[in-house]
Amino acid sequence: MTTPHADANPVLTVDLFAFARKEGAQLLGVADADNFDETEPAKRPKAHMKNARAVFVFTCRIPFAAATPHASPAYLQSGYYGLEAYINKISHRCSIWLEDRGYMAAGSPAGRDITGLRVIERGPSPKIELLSSFDLRLAAVKAGIGQIGVNNNLITATHGSRLRLGAVITNAPLVLNEPLEYGVVPDFCKQCGFRCVKSCPAKALSGTGAVDHYRCMVIHPEKVNVDHALVAFEKRYSGSPNQLASKMMGFTQNAPHTCARCITLCPMDISREDRKNLLQATAEAAA
Ligand code: SF4
Ligand code: SF4
Repeated sequence: MTTPHADANPVLTVDLFAFARKEGAQLLGVADADNFDETEPAKRPKAHMKNARAVFVFTCRIPFAAATPHASPAYLQSGYYGLEAYINKISHRCSIWLEDRGYMAAGSPAGRDITGLRVIERGPSPKIELLSSFDLRLAAVKAGIGQIGVNNNLITATHGSRLRLGAVITNAPLVLNEPLEYGVVPDFCKQCGFRCVKSCPAKALSGTGAVDHYRCMVIHPEKVNVDHALVAFEKRYSGSPNQLASKMMGFTQNAPHTCARCITLCPMDISREDRKNLLQATAEAAA
């Protein structure tokens, strides 16, 4: 249970939500900045703002036509790089909105937040860890927006994983949302029968919610020379965290990940029904 802040300001919260929606945000929530124990101290809100009290989290969904299982021009623009740039803009606009009302606020990077790479184990089945400055997915769970599915992505009740996340860390007295369960396999994954695990070309998903980052990054481990791949990754993700952050934000400095199968096939995207109706209506109109 979240303990509400005694001075929580419902009007400020409602007005921020309305502003963010106008800017293009969709699902919204607020997490308690003190409730991030599941992640390492360097990735908690207070590592970025000492007097942080809340994290405002929002989603922007990927249009169906751009949610392709493999990289495509539409996916890169509307589902990946282009969408992340748009989310960064919303975070920036919300930060300034809060600042104009007397609060400190700063956005977290929307995706490609890679500040380093750690090789945990070498050999034929290497284990690597991608380091980042903030855990957006954990923030979304703490803000009550969704749960982490077996595909290691945030799953929301309306759009499944067909979305990207943004967050603003602030000392504003926002009204907190109730967090959802974290670190457990959700019931909806058990009911789905682990469709993402079965169809992952890399066999990178274990069924526990964890992902093998090496396998996911190479996608076809059986076709790759492990040593060459590790050297390439170490070169790509070398440098100080700030140098890497700048490189990632360059949009052209790191190649796009070309697989999105576990996101696009998740049956939790209940809007699929709308898509079917939309396709049918379009086909009928064209007939
Ligand atoms: S495809 Fe199924 S198992 Fe995988 S995340 Fe979606 S609901 Fe969970
Ligand atoms: S992105 Fe592709 S390779 Fe990576 S876990 Fe999902 S389905 Fe597997």
